[in-house]
Amino acid sequence: MKTYLITGGSGFIGSNFVLKAREEQWANIINLDQLTYASNPNSLNTLKNDPGYQLIHGNIGDLELVSSILLRHRPDVILNFAAESHVDRSIVEPEAFIQTNILGTFRLLEATRSYWDELSPEDQIAFRFLHVSTDEVYGSLGPEDAPFCETTPYAPNSPYSASKAASDHLVRAYHHTYGIPTLTTNCSNNYGPYQFPEKLIPLTILSALEGKPLPIYGDGQNIRDWLYVEDHCNAIYQVIQQGNIGETYNIGGLNEKTNLSVVESICALLDELAPKSDIKHSSLITFVTDRPGHDKRYAIDCKKIHAELGWKPKESFDSGLLKTVKWYLKNVDWVKQAQSDDYHDWIHDNYSGR
Ligand code: NAD
Repeated sequence: MKTYLITGGSGFIGSNFVLKAREEQWANIINLDQLTYASNPNSLNTLKNDPGYQLIHGNIGDLELVSSILLRHRPDVILNFAAESHVDRSIVEPEAFIQTNILGTFRLLEATRSYWDELSPEDQIAFRFLHVSTDEVYGSLGPEDAPFCETTPYAPNSPYSASKAASDHLVRAYHHTYGIPTLTTNCSNNYGPYQFPEKLIPLTILSALEGKPLPIYGDGQNIRDWLYVEDHCNAIYQVIQQGNIGETYNIGGLNEKTNLSVVESICALLDELAPKSDIKHSSLITFVTDRPGHDKRYAIDCKKIHAELGWKPKESFDSGLLKTVKWYLKNVDWVKQAQSDDYHDWIHDNYSGR
């Protein structure tokens, strides 16, 4: 079986990918994760006794550590999820985004370059470096604009998206300059189990359950495309298996929704699954001052991955959201751990009184 070095495997999408990879026997996994506030090692508890899984606590920006992991474990694939991923945090504290998303990716690529240079010609041909990125690198669309495709020029508007754009360019350069067999995926907003509750969907579910205000930026009319996380994991695996080296694949859910409609859908589900005797959950919706530089609309054209690799999303937004809400209702212990001091400090500093 192949060995994947996965970075950021204890975060939201990484955990879902690691669990799926072990369940489906896609690969043995070495998970290099710095275990920042956004990670939750509990997400991978079921793999505690799995000999095909190993967690290494460390930073992708630590060249010596990454080089030693590559020499010791000799992975066939490096899959880079590790990132600072929350736009709001990037506005308040951009430094960590530059460190991990740009410098960290650079160092990971440097370690990969030395490792790849020393592989046999057959192993070099089989090797892949897949970099997981976002649709936010393309900037903002107007209501009538065509969705982002792989040739849409980059126009990032937040420190987060700018740092991801820089990392995408570095990955591209390492392919063109050094011949590393890279792949890049740019995906829309994910939702599903194990997402840290600072992001819109879990934040809304958990705040609504506690009867707290449900903050929505501006008029709530900003549009995002939503993809169920399992669909994203399947797409990534397919790109690793069959993607054309050096190329980029856009991945989307074909689910454009305003933020307000997403929150209203969650409220309607909670009215059914966890009703409150006195109020409808939607009465908790509170409009707050808009985020600076808030992109109006993202939409993804994923014709290329469909045409070349046959991938398309399986989950509808309604069925994916129902699964997600039920998951958060059932996994109280996971939620409690995620709602540790750091989470509370962040919510307190950034949402109270606005
Ligand atoms: P996340 O914030 O939930 O998890 C990130 C993980 O990376 C955490 O486990 C964290 O501990 C780890 N990490 C952070 N800095 C690190 C470092 N220096 N070294 C090693 N590990 C480090 O993020 P996510 O939502 O799972 O996103 C994963 C990737 O997918 C990111 O690159 C993100 O940009 C991209 N992406 C996310 C979405 C989304 O909707 N969540 C959409 C498109 C693309």
